[in-house]
Amino acid sequence: MKEVILVKYGEMALKGQNKYSFEDVLFRNIKRRLKPLGEFQYQSAQSTIYIAPQEESIDLEEVIARLQKIFGIAAICRACVCEKDFSDIQEKALLYLKETLEDISSFKVDAKRADKKFPMKSPEICRELGGILCEAFPDLHVDVHQPEITVTVEIRDTNAYIHADKIKGAGGLPLGSGGKALLLLSGGIDSPVAGYMMAKRGIAVSAIHFISPPYTSDRARLKVEELCQKMTPYCGDMKFYCVPFTEIQEELKRRCPEEYFTILMRRLMMEIAQQIAAKEEALALITGESVGQVASQTLQAMVCTDAVCKMPVFRPLIGMDKTEIIEIARKIDTFDISIQPYEDCCTVFTPRHPKIRPHLEDVEHAQEAGNFADLVEKAVSGTELKIFRLDL
Ligand code: ATP
Ligand code: MG
Repeated sequence: MKEVILVKYGEMALKGQNKYSFEDVLFRNIKRRLKPLGEFQYQSAQSTIYIAPQEESIDLEEVIARLQKIFGIAAICRACVCEKDFSDIQEKALLYLKETLEDISSFKVDAKRADKKFPMKSPEICRELGGILCEAFPDLHVDVHQPEITVTVEIRDTNAYIHADKIKGAGGLPLGSGGKALLLLSGGIDSPVAGYMMAKRGIAVSAIHFISPPYTSDRARLKVEELCQKMTPYCGDMKFYCVPFTEIQEELKRRCPEEYFTILMRRLMMEIAQQIAAKEEALALITGESVGQVASQTLQAMVCTDAVCKMPVFRPLIGMDKTEIIEIARKIDTFDISIQPYEDCCTVFTPRHPKIRPHLEDVEHAQEAGNFADLVEKAVSGTELKIFRLDL
């Protein structure tokens, strides 16, 4: 039996004329990820993409696994292709759904008749096919309100399709349809999740990471690179900027009051990140901050950080609890890497008694004690770029 994969759009379907540009991006993303698996034929109609494998050997489970990570897809169905003829539909339904229907006790049939010339109307298709399936599987009954499975028959232009339940897609909007932003990526649990969440809204994400050798080790940097690689199934190819931050931190330690270390460090990170973002043509920064999580993540501290930012700073985790963040980190498979115990440049220079509710004038005054302008420029020019490619 010939099978195809039907991909159903999410929110994109609501976008009127704008839909077509989203559609183009989604098509490109899908084609790129499926290409290594073999040859496919693509068609789109009524907010659905039809993907027909052209080679017997293609593993459809692998196709579905890849599609499940592509933003912009609400649902995926594996469907059987039929002639637009009810006797063929009925015959194939019995064969194609056999294993599924043997395992359950209730179902319903749903019909979508895009081709209005098809001689049977939707309620008739449902009634007839429902009756035939009940007869063939005596343990089965129809439950229109809470069926275990919905068998869908779609009558389209060239063919009819039968499928059982939908597989949930990744949701969101197609990656790259929403411009570019730069993620401050640490080795922790939060920032990879923050990057994932913005990518889900169609934003292309690049990463920037600050290192302080010899206070931070090569191994700590490798861990962050591993995180970056882990994010590529969702974020696509990712640029990774690694910034040498040691001299700035030493200057901080030498000249500025200890209680302001963390907040000043964050302001300097933001200044550097903005310069890199401008080169990248990224329009915003992203961090993994969540209000109140640690001393530097109070509202007052964020006000002091944002005072140096000319571009918007997105904090998609701002209202989330740690347990909710961890749940996503596990889902995207970054959690196990994040919990490896390597030092971050923030932890190396943590003050004993950080100012929890800093005032902007005091912070600005504290920063004036150091000589940062040249050091910031030096850090920007010493920044290294690596690209992590989506592993196809
Ligand atoms: P995370 O789990 O993301 O490390 P955290 O709870 O440890 O977050 P902080 O260490 O205060 O919190 O960092 C807050 C945010 O600052 C991080 O989510 C990240 O966006 C950014 N950040 C912290 N350290 C670095 C670093 N070395 N390089 C790049 N960004 C960093
Ligand atoms: Mg951290």
